[in-house]
Amino acid sequence: MIRISDIIDTMAENNPGADLDIIDRAYIYSARVHDGQVRLSGEPYLSHPLEVAGILADMRLDPVSVAAALLHDVIEDTHAEADEIRAIFGQEVAHIVSGVTKLTALTFDSSRKREAESIRKMFLAMADDIRVILIKLADRLHNMRTLQFHKEGKRHKIAQETLDIYAPIAARLGIYWIKSELENTAFLYLMPEEHQQIQQQVAKGRPEREKTIETVRGIITKKLDEMKIPGEVLGRYKQNYSIYTKMLSQNLAFEDVYDIIAFRIILQTISQCYEVLGHIHTLWKPIDRKFKDYIGRPKPNMYQSLHTTVVGPSGDRIEIQIRSEEMDKVAKSGIAAHWSYKEGKHVDDRVSRTYAWIQDLVENQANIRDPQEFLENVRIDLFPDEVHVFTPNGDVKTLPKGATSVDFAYLIHSEVGNLCTGAKVNGRLVPLHKELKTGDIVEVITAKSGHPSKDWLSFVKTVKARSRIRQWIKIEAKERSISLGREMCEKAFRKEKLNFLAMVKTEEMASAVKHFGFRTIDDLIASVGYGKITPLQIIRRVAAKPEEEEPHFSFLDKLISSVRKKKPKAGVVVKGVDDILIRFGKCCQPVPGDEITGYITRGAGVTVHRSSCVNALQMTPERQIDVEWNQEMSEKYPVKIQVTSYDRVGLLADIVSSISKNNANIFSAKTDTDENKMVASYFTVGVVDTGHLRRIVREIRKIRNVQGVRRIE
Ligand code: MN
Repeated sequence: MIRISDIIDTMAENNPGADLDIIDRAYIYSARVHDGQVRLSGEPYLSHPLEVAGILADMRLDPVSVAAALLHDVIEDTHAEADEIRAIFGQEVAHIVSGVTKLTALTFDSSRKREAESIRKMFLAMADDIRVILIKLADRLHNMRTLQFHKEGKRHKIAQETLDIYAPIAARLGIYWIKSELENTAFLYLMPEEHQQIQQQVAKGRPEREKTIETVRGIITKKLDEMKIPGEVLGRYKQNYSIYTKMLSQNLAFEDVYDIIAFRIILQTISQCYEVLGHIHTLWKPIDRKFKDYIGRPKPNMYQSLHTTVVGPSGDRIEIQIRSEEMDKVAKSGIAAHWSYKEGKHVDDRVSRTYAWIQDLVENQANIRDPQEFLENVRIDLFPDEVHVFTPNGDVKTLPKGATSVDFAYLIHSEVGNLCTGAKVNGRLVPLHKELKTGDIVEVITAKSGHPSKDWLSFVKTVKARSRIRQWIKIEAKERSISLGREMCEKAFRKEKLNFLAMVKTEEMASAVKHFGFRTIDDLIASVGYGKITPLQIIRRVAAKPEEEEPHFSFLDKLISSVRKKKPKAGVVVKGVDDILIRFGKCCQPVPGDEITGYITRGAGVTVHRSSCVNALQMTPERQIDVEWNQEMSEKYPVKIQVTSYDRVGLLADIVSSISKNNANIFSAKTDTDENKMVASYFTVGVVDTGHLRRIVREIRKIRNVQGVRRIE
């Protein structure tokens, strides 16, 4: 069993001058509260936090991490309270210990493999201090080292969880030695036969491989000596689990796995790395496409190295990695290497720049000077665009950041979303628009009478929720127009002394349905409600009444309405409804850019007014419908402007040419001159949007003698 004095010695060596008193105190406290507890191995419980602390001390972490490691199980397993930890050891230690406790409390049924990725991400996201994860990894490492003391079933569960969750997290953080130890131990327990087979095969070829290692090392070392480059050449064996996954994924026999042994050359500078690579490629023929430059393009977890595969001295392929000492340190401890520098040293700017990933982490932490500060500011924010939440049954669901209970409800099932009336987050009722956070437990409340609301569209984040809500509104709008259409038909038919309900099932009506291009009578009635067809048109079909005379319209009205009728949907979209007749209020002449509201009118579709229009304000709210400008349309809309000016020769011509130079059509023009030679000219011009209108107004103002230009409401 490791002793506290060993840990303190390591810490003193790695952190000269640092105050290690906190480690002493944490040890004494931990020993006191764990007193009497025994591990399955028969050892006193304290041996576990000591081992975990020892692993972190070896990783050169700071005294706070090591103290927290000594205390990592006290909240979970003893009577100690978080408040007490805070009072004795301070906020930082308490925060880390609570974080570890929080993660320990999560239990995963990791047999559900497809969820493993979400769980890993949630795990990382829940720990807002990366030291929480490092302690958790060291904790798991020691538990795996002592797994033999558990019963078979428990052993299997822990090993599977390690393989699914912890090993990939270690890899994500670039701590490869932990990753391979976790994988290999889990492999041993999960697939003992496969493990043993590989073990034996590796052992069988060992004498021969040792010889190869000696030969290759000898040749490279000699070359380095000639070049006067100091460096170290290592031959190493591929991990059993890596051999196994390679055989499995590439369907290879053991004999075909050529990189059972690999070589690593550790040098001092980057330029030496490339120089030595050149010499290796001259010595032995490189294999195409097997060369990877992770120095030029580091992996996201900061890993840097040159990888090459060559045809070695005996004709076999050999894999060689070339890296600097600094890179080797990072490759071994990943993210941990970044603050494990000796006190007083700065985080190297150049290093930070190279590692884009770290740079992202510290994006908002400009000018970080010392490792301590860096450490305090680094928060795990690896997956900024996702949140991971639980169902009441403990299943993990992944949603985009900013998602709400409504998104969650639709993710569970469309019907759950459609009937959703409220939500409980962590047992408490919350507004539906509240954003969910990673780790939240979400429970949706539904009611038979529940239904989506248009407002939900303003806060939902997922495509599924959005499209399902829209779909529902569309169906609802159709039902509304059927009842409106029926009401209108009944009234109009009654006026003609006809009984609409009685006629619905007649032959004539069926042929009218076909004539107007619909499949069912409901579709026809709905189109009356939408205003696409008038009840009178139906009456004419089914009762063969003579045609009515068109009401009188001015020329301009005819022109405008004929343009409108050709493209009923042009320019404006009614939310949730396609293909509806749109008219524009002549009273206020809306133009793209204006705020607008729609009104369902009887038999005339939807009329669009400016939101500020007096006429619009007087209409009943239940006929109101949300509309918005269709951004893709570039149609021209009529708008009336008044130009006041002193009269002069050619004035009108100047105004007209200014308007057409700005690509607007003139629908009508009228001029009044009074006795003081003041002219008021009125133009109806066609503009694309309010910006276009402003440009025209600005240009007209520049014309000589013009006093003022304004839009007429
Ligand atoms: Mn533990």
